[in-house]
Amino acid sequence: MNFSSLALSSPLLQVLEELDFQTVTPIQAQSIPVLLQGRDLVGQAKTGSGKTAAFALPILERIRLQHRRLQALVLCPTRELCAQVAGELRRLGRRLPGLQVLVLAGGQPVRPQVNALEKGAHIAVGTPGRILDLLQRESLETRQLATVVLDEADRMLDMGFREDMERILGATPPTRQTVLFSATFPPDIEALSRTFQKQPARVTVVESEAAPDIQQLCYVCEPEEKTALLLRILRQYQPASAIVFCNLKATVAELTRALTAAGVGADGLQGDMEQSERDSVMAKFRNRSIRMLIATDVAGRGIDVEALDAVINFDLPSQPESYVHRIGRTGRAGRRGLAISIATPRDERKVETLEGATGVKLERASVESLPPAEAKDGASLEAAWETLFISAGRKDKMRPGDILGALTGEAGGLNAADIGKIEIHDHHAYVAVSKDLVRLALQRLRDGRIKGRKFRIERVR
Ligand code: ADP
Ligand code: MG
Repeated sequence: MNFSSLALSSPLLQVLEELDFQTVTPIQAQSIPVLLQGRDLVGQAKTGSGKTAAFALPILERIRLQHRRLQALVLCPTRELCAQVAGELRRLGRRLPGLQVLVLAGGQPVRPQVNALEKGAHIAVGTPGRILDLLQRESLETRQLATVVLDEADRMLDMGFREDMERILGATPPTRQTVLFSATFPPDIEALSRTFQKQPARVTVVESEAAPDIQQLCYVCEPEEKTALLLRILRQYQPASAIVFCNLKATVAELTRALTAAGVGADGLQGDMEQSERDSVMAKFRNRSIRMLIATDVAGRGIDVEALDAVINFDLPSQPESYVHRIGRTGRAGRRGLAISIATPRDERKVETLEGATGVKLERASVESLPPAEAKDGASLEAAWETLFISAGRKDKMRPGDILGALTGEAGGLNAADIGKIEIHDHHAYVAVSKDLVRLALQRLRDGRIKGRKFRIERVR
């Protein structure tokens, strides 16, 4: 696709030709038409995918040059990024006579910025802190703002700009167009979008360069055969650590029961669980006391686990971005990931939509070649570890060495190799112990002392 098929006017098309922008990148193809209509947008695409031009071109197209008032505001996390974005706006807008783009970043004297604003400008690119400062000085006039862009919104949140961003958005006209670009979609981005955007279009692009690290398979079966098929898939791939996504919390509960009954080390995570339950399930997953974590998208949000062997879609998500978000959890840190989807014959359309959005074809795998659902010898899907809870944590000055010491010392008598991951929280701790030694470990900890004191010790099942 080339730029002339987009509704851009000739000064912009000419510049694009001069800059040798021959083809529209996927994020641009999907975002520019939406933004030209004035709609809100949430966009996700990796670095280098051309997000700047995706919002810059529609801004430039819609700017009224003869009207020297601030019409667009772009927030970026750092001064360097502000300079880059402003540079791109100026470059793309170089055939727009009199276009004024200002950089309003921190770390520079505020006075010249105040003066420049007084002279009038069309577009400002700034860091949240400085923009808020200029707003409070009443130097920055928001009345004519038609578009506000949050570029690299996730990074701005990480850098602690949430409140500043919220206050800036709150000070701009409610009629504004709000554009949010982010490389990731943590829950706080969703929350920001919900609060400040009006029915935003969602655009997610997985570049095909990124896809080869994840093998994406699809098995098809009838709905009533899904649980048996999942067991066969697990027996085939033997993941040490995998998340199984379901669309409904009822399915999470059912599937957790079915897998546990089949001897699989699995537990479920549901959105309405109490925080303490959620914590202990996550601790078990991290320390390998369970191998499969069953979750819905909502419950699975914000889960951050390194080194997942596989992500399995027990149900296909309806939104391509959920799919992308789900499978992005495997194949990190330079390892090839595995994403397996279970589809029913009725899901064909969903599969096509996913393939369209990701630009990757799911490999149709043969159900016949999978092992049976029933356990064979030597192919256990049990977890190797079990978790003990200890009612003391960081606030009690508990350190991993104290727990290790209590288990392996003279009184404990276990080998260090039988002790797994030790996690210390504020008021409690978890320790993983070899499954067959867990009763012994429990007995020893209950009989003995840690740091010379008695604590409550429990098995976490
Ligand atoms: P992102 O913000 O997604 O990380 P940028 O907007 O910084 O990416 O774009 C990366 C580079 O690609 C920039 O140098 C930009 O000028 C260039 N670029 C963007 N879109 C195109 C295009 N359609 N054709 C050629 N180069 C492009
Ligand atoms: Mg960028």
